[in-house]
Amino acid sequence: MKKVLSFDIDQTLNIAKTPINDEIADLLTRCLNHFEICPISGQKFDQFLIQIVDRLKDATPEQLTHLHLFVAQGTQYYRFNLEKNDWEQVYNYPLTDEQVKKISETIETSAKELGFWEEDKLAPGDEIIENRLSQVTFSALGQTAGTEEKYAWDPDYKKRASIVARCKELAPEFEYEIGGTTSINAITPGMNKEFGMNHLLEELRVEKKDVLYFGDMTSPGGNDYPVVKMGIDTITVKSHEDTAFALKGILGLLDAQTQTDRGHFLL
Ligand SMILES: [Mg+2]
Repeated sequence: MKKVLSFDIDQTLNIAKTPINDEIADLLTRCLNHFEICPISGQKFDQFLIQIVDRLKDATPEQLTHLHLFVAQGTQYYRFNLEKNDWEQVYNYPLTDEQVKKISETIETSAKELGFWEEDKLAPGDEIIENRLSQVTFSALGQTAGTEEKYAWDPDYKKRASIVARCKELAPEFEYEIGGTTSINAITPGMNKEFGMNHLLEELRVEKKDVLYFGDMTSPGGNDYPVVKMGIDTITVKSHEDTAFALKGILGLLDAQTQTDRGHFLL
C-alpha cells in the first residue's frame, strides 16, 4: 500500500489561489489517519497555511504531524512540531539576490516585448513578479485578481508559452515552468518538483513506489511533469473535484478493509 499521498495545490486541491473547500478539508483530515500527506507547490509558506492548514479545523496536533509542507516546489520543507505546537522549517534552498534580479528583469522584458505586461490591471499594492525565495513567480494579473479573470487570461497557455520562449533566449541559464492559471515559475535548473520530491523521499524515508501523486499539469512543460518523469505513480486531475472523487475511492477501500478486519476479529 502507498505510504504517502502527495498533491499539487492549484487546480488539484482547490480553485487556483483559493482555500480548499470543506469536502477536500474533510477528506485530507481523514487521509491523515492513514498516510503521510504532502502538498508540494510553487506557493509560499503563508499560502500553504491560508489555503490548506487553516482549513483543516478538525485535525488534531497529532494528525498534523502527518502533514508535510513542501513549499516553493519543495525547495523549502516545513513540518509540525508537537512540542512547540507550531510549524518548523526543516530546510531551505533560496535563490541568490543576483539570480532573483536577473530572472525578474528577464520576465519583465519578455512580457513587455510581447504586450503581456498588464500593470494597468493590477489591484493597488499587488505585484506581477514575486520573489518566493526559492523561485521567482510571474502572475500575469497579480496575486489578488479574480478567478474568472485569471481563467480567461490564458486558457490555451499560448501567452505564457511565448513569454517562456523569449525568456529562454534572454536568460537560458534558468528554467521556466507554466503553472496555475496565469503563472510562470522561474527556477535554477533542477530546482523543480523533482528536487522537492527527491527531498520528500529522503526526509520521509520512503521509496518512489510508496508515493501516489496528484497533479493537473502532468504533461511535458507542466510543473507536475518532473514527478511523472521520475516514475512516481501519478493521478492526473482536471480539478479538485477529480481529486475528491479519487480520495473518496481510496478512503472507501480502507474503510471496507477495516470493517473486514474487524469482522475477522469478531469471528
Ligand atoms: Mg496545478
